[in-house]
Amino acid sequence: MQRRDLLKNLGVLPLAGVAVGGIDISEKEKELVAKRNLFEELGVRTFINAAGTYTFMTGSLMQEEVVEAIRSTSKEFCLLDDLQDKVGEKIAAIVKSESAVVTAGCFSAMTLGLAGVLSGMDTKKVAQIPHLEGTGMKSEVIVQKGHNVGYSQALTNTGCKMVFVETIDEVEKAINDKTALLWFLNIQSDQGKITHEEWVALGKKHNIPTMIDIAADVPPVSNLWKFNDMGFDLVCISGGKAMRGPQSAGLLMGKKNLIDAARLSMPPRGSTIGRGMKVNKEEIIGMYVALDHYVKHDHAADWKMWEGRVATISKAINSFPGLTTETRVPKLGNITPTLHVEWDQAKVKISSKQLQENLRKGNPSIEIVNNGESHISMTTWMMQAGEETKVAQRLKEEFQKAV
Ligand SMILES: *Cc1c(COP(=O)(O)O)cnc(C)c1O
Repeated sequence: MQRRDLLKNLGVLPLAGVAVGGIDISEKEKELVAKRNLFEELGVRTFINAAGTYTFMTGSLMQEEVVEAIRSTSKEFCLLDDLQDKVGEKIAAIVKSESAVVTAGCFSAMTLGLAGVLSGMDTKKVAQIPHLEGTGMKSEVIVQKGHNVGYSQALTNTGCKMVFVETIDEVEKAINDKTALLWFLNIQSDQGKITHEEWVALGKKHNIPTMIDIAADVPPVSNLWKFNDMGFDLVCISGGKAMRGPQSAGLLMGKKNLIDAARLSMPPRGSTIGRGMKVNKEEIIGMYVALDHYVKHDHAADWKMWEGRVATISKAINSFPGLTTETRVPKLGNITPTLHVEWDQAKVKISSKQLQENLRKGNPSIEIVNNGESHISMTTWMMQAGEETKVAQRLKEEFQKAV
């Protein structure tokens, strides 16, 4: 149905159920809205996500509880700051930090956290960021070379520059009166010589705040409080990855004075670097519900389910000659059973690229990860029940054609 027709139809519906101010909609109208397949109307391809939590694939599917919270809280107004205060207290209690605030993802948590470090509670400085020169604000962030994988743009957006180091000695030498922050990237922690604990100790010794990016690092659920407990002053995580909160939400957790300062750069305040990083009540409450539900969740049961799905896919294809399947679990980030499929193209005559294309164009459309010439990988944690069977069937078909 065209949107115009839908609106026309809505206009002739009986008034029963239409509430105050015409904002609420009747059951009948709800039904009409629910029947619309907007992806189809728009001509947008949807697919089974056998790849993982990727921003370009729209991340994750929100938990049902989150969707319900968004729907129900969209019906009333509240004050944005009041909501961030109350939700922040609840979240801080869950993650064992002094304070917390819902941001528009991990990336904005980092920008806002650093903005708070730079400005403190000085609103004049808040408005000056990212033009730091001549303001008296600090302007350098120290990071280990191995931790520099692109996300540091979140920090340089504040006007700070990154200073790269490798050893504790180099950190000590790099620290000067411009040093604002010591930044650590958990997913790359095996690529640096300095450990988490040493990083925190360096910060404390020189009285410089430490921040850690743990964007994709639950599960395990304990990572939600591990780094707060360890003494990082600021901890940043995505809400729309394994937690399956709103894709446009994340958390900034940490010291109360720093979170208070970061909030000066956040909406509703304008003339700030963070005015465009808005989260409204729906994302704020959605994030809280996602977190609350996530910590109470049966994670062992999830793990079993993911493994079961991986086994279903593996079993369907592992007898093709020249093809091997192996389940690996990443040590850092996206910790979930990941099925790697590799083959000898002399025996299985298809490239990863062609296979990816065929799966994409097939029915149902499926997205996997292409790891090279004849190597793909898949995760099952973003799948919906039963989709693993479809993935198994489609892969089997494709490999059958190629042998
Ligand atoms: C995903 C990711 C981010 C960005 O997180 P958003 O919630 O999408 O803003 C930052 N750092 C790392 C390591 C990530 O994996």
